[in-house]
Amino acid sequence: MSSLNRLQKFVQRNDMYERRFEASQELALEAYDMLNQYVFDNGLDPCPITVRRTRGYWGLCDGRIVDDECRVKEITLTKRYPFKAMFINTLAHEMVHQFQWEVLSNERMEQGKAPIMSHGPSFYCWKPALKEYNIILTREY
Ligand SMILES: [Zn+2]
Repeated sequence: MSSLNRLQKFVQRNDMYERRFEASQELALEAYDMLNQYVFDNGLDPCPITVRRTRGYWGLCDGRIVDDECRVKEITLTKRYPFKAMFINTLAHEMVHQFQWEVLSNERMEQGKAPIMSHGPSFYCWKPALKEYNIILTREY
């Protein structure tokens, strides 16, 4: 069957749950591109992604306000995960934050409301779309 899209093929690889996974910049960019295309409908402006050792977190979305505009400076991903699926889950989590910051928050600021980057309803509304790709959205990471 060739009707599967790139992201479906990617998450169905049988190495997703092999123990220990070391992330690379290259794979992070590839996965970002696929998630942006198939889940976010290319609604995200690709931002810098840094893969490095971290302490106390697996992923971070660094949102700033520059000249009254909410922009993500970068997404940071840690280097080592128990398995590859956790790396994808973490990246998807940070991309939902990027959506909250660059899309929702700019709309909110135009309406005089505060920007938002949280684990509330506007975060979890992405859960079903990600679940279709076996990607689990939780507040962890
Ligand atoms: Zn979060």
